[in-house]
Amino acid sequence: MKKAVKFGGSSLADAKQFRKCAAIIQADPSRRYVVPSAPGKRFRDDVKITDMLIECYEIQRKDLDQGLECFSRVEDRFDEIIRDLGLDYSLEPEYRLIRSYMEEGLSRDYLVSRGEFLSGKVLSALLDFPFVDPADYIVFNSNGVFEEQKTAAAFRKIVDMDCFVMPGFYGATETGRIKTFTRGGSDITGSVVAGGMRVDIYENWTDVSGFLMADPRMVEDPLSITEISYSELRELSYMGAQVFHEEAIFPAREAGIPINIRNTNRPEDEGSWVRTDDKISDEHLLITGVTGKKGFMSMSFEKDVGGDRLPFGRKVLQMFEEAKIMVEHVPSSIGTMTVIVDAREISGKEENILRRIRREIDPYSITVERNLALVAVVGIRMHGVVGITSDMLRVLAREGINVRMLIQGIKEISLIIGINEEDFEKAIRLLYRFALDRNQKDRQG
Ligand code: ASP
Repeated sequence: MKKAVKFGGSSLADAKQFRKCAAIIQADPSRRYVVPSAPGKRFRDDVKITDMLIECYEIQRKDLDQGLECFSRVEDRFDEIIRDLGLDYSLEPEYRLIRSYMEEGLSRDYLVSRGEFLSGKVLSALLDFPFVDPADYIVFNSNGVFEEQKTAAAFRKIVDMDCFVMPGFYGATETGRIKTFTRGGSDITGSVVAGGMRVDIYENWTDVSGFLMADPRMVEDPLSITEISYSELRELSYMGAQVFHEEAIFPAREAGIPINIRNTNRPEDEGSWVRTDDKISDEHLLITGVTGKKGFMSMSFEKDVGGDRLPFGRKVLQMFEEAKIMVEHVPSSIGTMTVIVDAREISGKEENILRRIRREIDPYSITVERNLALVAVVGIRMHGVVGITSDMLRVLAREGINVRMLIQGIKEISLIIGINEEDFEKAIRLLYRFALDRNQKDRQG
């Protein structure tokens, strides 16, 4: 059994947290490939190392001395961790190199990634595990796009290593320029390492014990669930739930590796699991999440298309693509094509695209509706449960919530309900209660 273990920023915020991580790793010899984030917040108003580094970069562009001064505060935080750990170890050579690059004018990604780099150095000294720099194995192209195949090939060179620490969040181009993933990207590194090292389990250590079934800002004390499937996770995170980013899971998902989300501060908890759809347990809930987002708008185009439906749809979508506007959903009927977009995404481009569509497609009507919200009820087991959709809709109807749009794919992983924004919070609460109720009935058989 081999595991890749990723620790988030709060798990490495200070020496005490570093010690917890080391104890977790040492408690299980299968925890071999360790991916640390940069130290995060120690208390509510604290600043994450990554944010400090972003600030240092901005400052040093204007004033090198002040930039170096800013970086010395980053050094202080690491030195404090090393001192409190009682390690006979110094990061001075690394600091010196980073400072010299600052003097020469370095890239933003390079400086911002140093939090993970230094964190990895400390952890490797603490565990006595070899340090492996992701710059040599996680490959990006010159536009900063992750290169999956090249990375997989690079990992083949280290697949036999017994153990290592590899910092999260960054990699490099083939010419050695450091590139970072998006914020929170150490989750991606953990997943890449899990896939590349062909482990059995990817443990993601954070500061919560499980996934919440709904957003605690909208639902009081939402239930924490112990298992979701990859496809549910994708739906939930896409629709706004604060779980993993989609791209953070794909390498593990592709390799069929389950993810175990664990709490560094409560290592005795089993945490929650993300498993492939075909490996879910008997405990898997009927409905695993209720989530949603506001701020959508719809544009409907009507045209008498006759037998010509295909090019009509294709042309509309092509125009959105060319304007670089992400189309979220396309609920359509014969002769009417509706496009749902995120209002923030289209802002500033709306006039242009409508003008183009009028000119090139000439629909006989265009209807734009704003202030729409989408709510998603997610659960792969809903598939085949007769009447569940109508029950859900009845709950909304009873409370006077007007359903504007419905999207249910043939696989029935989720039901997406379009409503007016003003009904959003209420709908989430109603559907969450509905989900609890149905899950309970499902349990009782
Ligand atoms: N340290 C980076 C961030 O704060 C990456 C990560 O923690 O995953 O976004």
